Amino acid sequence: MSIEIVNRQYYKPSFGDVKINIMKTEGSPLGNPHYKSAFSDAGRGRAIALYRQWLWNKIKMNDPLIVGALREIAHLHRQGKNVKLECVCVPKPCHGAIIKNAVEWLIMKNLNTAGYLELIVPTVYM
Ligand SMILES: [Zn+2]
Repeated sequence: MSIEIVNRQYYKPSFGDVKINIMKTEGSPLGNPHYKSAFSDAGRGRAIALYRQWLWNKIKMNDPLIVGALREIAHLHRQGKNVKLECVCVPKPCHGAIIKNAVEWLIMKNLNTAGYLELIVPTVYM
């Protein structure tokens, strides 16, 4: 059970992997709407910072498409799958790292004392 960001141009899947495309240009709901800022190395960090804000807002709004996609990744991860988030950035920084953090945060927040994953979006305090 892992979540890894991979470069879809080079990554060779292993048996049991679950690949999830996270590219805006290919219609992924988890794509970065600010991806064009990442076309220069100077803008890459900014694009990822903007994505972090964007994703956080979507979680706070409980956007069904975005939160649903994050929950799906959380489910797969908890089922012991090796989730591969596919983009073309690696080895450069990628917004996939933000997705991974968000999924891990959702799992942590939703684990009750018995260890169940309830998958309820946590209340966010501003
Ligand atoms: Zn990327």
